[in-house]
Amino acid sequence: KRRAVMAGNWKLNPKTAADAKTLAALVGAARRDVDADVDVFVCPPAPFLADVVRVLEGSGVAVGCQNIYWKDSGAFTGEMTAEMAKSVGCTHVLVGHSERRELFGETDEHTRLKTRKAIDCGMTAVLCIGETKTEYEAGQARRVCSRQLEAALEGVQADELSQVIVAYEPVWAIGTGLTATPAIAQSVHAGIRQWFREKYGDGAASKIRIQYGGSVKPETVDELMQAPDVDGCLVGGASLVAEQFGRIFNFD
Ligand code: 13P
Repeated sequence: KRRAVMAGNWKLNPKTAADAKTLAALVGAARRDVDADVDVFVCPPAPFLADVVRVLEGSGVAVGCQNIYWKDSGAFTGEMTAEMAKSVGCTHVLVGHSERRELFGETDEHTRLKTRKAIDCGMTAVLCIGETKTEYEAGQARRVCSRQLEAALEGVQADELSQVIVAYEPVWAIGTGLTATPAIAQSVHAGIRQWFREKYGDGAASKIRIQYGGSVKPETVDELMQAPDVDGCLVGGASLVAEQFGRIFNFD
């Protein structure tokens, strides 16, 4: 199996820079305590990025941002470029998160532009995909994921996939306490890997890392990680409690 990769998406938390530094310090300490063969990164809100990078220096925990814009500069009030995030020490960036798509009107095309920019900037794009509850109930999970992959990775070459992590986050499982069962996750992850096989070949498909996200908890992580095509988790709520996130990246 591929090297595991565990990520914490802090979303719009915590409230202050002081709280963010405290949480980061606890996550760093938890990582130092754990001798696990796993990559770990956290994605704090933009105002806290530089502080969190400093706190986590040397801890083995990398830092990502939750969003970037695809332009390099100019009159785009409120946005942040990939270069800016990289210049304060971010190595990863979430793109296409369902909250960006649903609440902020991001399209497949925006996701493609952001993925392209992250790769060109030398960062790792964490490409989030996943179906809604209605789509899931209609049996369209794999089809929706394929469509989102097709759109976001248009023009991305096989040798650039080392800068891509896929995060399968079924919208119905995010923040709902309804973790997808390991069997559901495995089935969709296998479908995602199959998409890579058809598009990029066996080598690329066997290397691409696919995270599962949606109500991951210390209690559910072990079974999820036993699924052959689940290579890691993208954790929201439980990543805000260092002790829980620590247990997640120290999965069995
Ligand atoms: P929860 O773990 O809170 O369900 O959030 C998942 C998520 O959206 C991570 O990006």
